[in-house]
Amino acid sequence: MSKKFRQLLLTVSSLLLTVIFLGAFQTPLKASSSQINVVTTLDFYGETAKAVLGDHGTVTSLITSPNVDPHDFEPTTKTAKTVAKADLVVYNGAGYDNWVKKLNGKKYLSAASVMKTKDGANEHLWYDPQTMAKLADRLATEFGKMQPQNKASFKQNATKYKKSLAKLTKMLDKIKQNSNNQKVAVSEPVFDYSLNKMGYQIANKHFAKATEEGSDPSYSDIKKLQDDIKNKKISFFVQNTQSDSSVIKNIVKLCHKNKIPVVKVTETLPKDKNYVSWLSSEYQAILDIQQKK
Ligand SMILES: [Zn+2]
Repeated sequence: MSKKFRQLLLTVSSLLLTVIFLGAFQTPLKASSSQINVVTTLDFYGETAKAVLGDHGTVTSLITSPNVDPHDFEPTTKTAKTVAKADLVVYNGAGYDNWVKKLNGKKYLSAASVMKTKDGANEHLWYDPQTMAKLADRLATEFGKMQPQNKASFKQNATKYKKSLAKLTKMLDKIKQNSNNQKVAVSEPVFDYSLNKMGYQIANKHFAKATEEGSDPSYSDIKKLQDDIKNKKISFFVQNTQSDSSVIKNIVKLCHKNKIPVVKVTETLPKDKNYVSWLSSEYQAILDIQQKK
């Protein structure tokens, strides 16, 4: 072995040692900054979780297609595997997506428990922006228990997220100033929490419940709604566009004929929107109706 070659070998091996040495120190560092793995059933709850979690973890939502009716969602083996790996599973509850409870998640948190809503009550809790605000606070607390070193950061993130919801509360307040407790009708109880906050009265609760349950409303319920439309007893009709019932299609036609405005809402997050832009576009439609009157 030449002197030069031996020197080169020494340099290379000491370099190698340095790499190994550094590597040995890097491994435990990585392990201590482990990520919180969150799974949510609905995508808008995933948005809340991501906002509060920041870069301290990952969020996976199970229902992300606006074409899937969450009422009919069937979990697969893949769904079960995703849920089993989660540190926290966030779901709606109140009977809406309770299938997720059967999937062996480590820890669960429901919007219904945060809002103290019982099974059987209106389950479309996300149509109350207050639900998202309270959920954000609760998530900050839960994440803080899992990673006490990031407690302050989670709290800060929740505050920032709640500020983004202020736009919606402002719109609700503005609508309430001109709703005057007027009557409205709905195809399904999807939008009811928002309507309540706006100060509107729902004239056809029995009709709406039937559509939600997938059955046709009774003849007398349909007749009453038709009369309300013809006699202009309602300010507007709220249509869930994700439902394709022929009864609703005929009601919408009757509204158009009698110049009763139709507000289109969806049960799930549209593809090109986030929670705030989704709800605010629906709220804007009602502000527009109020302005025309
Ligand atoms: Zn529904």
